[in-house]
Amino acid sequence: MRIDIITVLPELLESPFNHSILKRAKEKNLLEVNVINLRDFATNKHKQVDDYQYGGGAGMVMMIEPIANCIESLKSKQDYDEVIYMTPDGELLDQPITNKLSLLKNIIIICGHYKGVDERIRNHFITKEISIGNYVLSGGELPAAVLVDAIGRLLPGVLNDESSALFDSFQDNLLAPPVYTRPEKFRDLTVPEILLSGDNKKIDEWRLNQSVQRTRERRPDLLNE
Ligand code: SAH
Repeated sequence: MRIDIITVLPELLESPFNHSILKRAKEKNLLEVNVINLRDFATNKHKQVDDYQYGGGAGMVMMIEPIANCIESLKSKQDYDEVIYMTPDGELLDQPITNKLSLLKNIIIICGHYKGVDERIRNHFITKEISIGNYVLSGGELPAAVLVDAIGRLLPGVLNDESSALFDSFQDNLLAPPVYTRPEKFRDLTVPEILLSGDNKKIDEWRLNQSVQRTRERRPDLLNE
């Protein structure tokens, strides 16, 4: 999968994809992430990408021209399945959306700043708008990194045990069961005996039970879906 991220702060996206699971995804050529500096597509000599808003009021707005030029330049080289704008008034990101996006081949992600982007970009160039939560951040870079991480770990072959993402929280509308590792006993704190039993069938049953119980306690809304 190829993900092109358009940003005015490429430095913010230097590190998130170069460690751990996403690094492995890139090394295995399962994921290609390109960070594109929007300023390279600015048309005036000051490399301006934002301007005052029509109608007055505080806060700059990202201009239509550099973003349109950037998207069109990318589209002249390959086709894209989605052009995504990260925005607090977008569709709230969840596991089903992430699952669907992980099946695509090429996507563009646009990071907003200041007051956001000129509405004409949203109306004519964007195909999907995604929010990572009901709060406002100062830029779309961290939301973009969240989205790429959530997608990247789902690509087949990225996680060591291919099925392991299937057992994470929110798949099947269930939260994940509790997990334990060595030592078996820390002070007087022990590990549930069933996990040491070696009986895989019983262990699976126990995990499912724990998942359902945890979901019922913490996120009953998931069970009602
Ligand atoms: N004035 C806008 C907020 C702009 S915040 C409003 O009230 O809706 C600046 C940029 O940060 C946005 O353009 C967006 O790209 C990003 N951003 C902020 N919060 C976000 C969130 N919860 N989800 C996704 N992107 C977000």
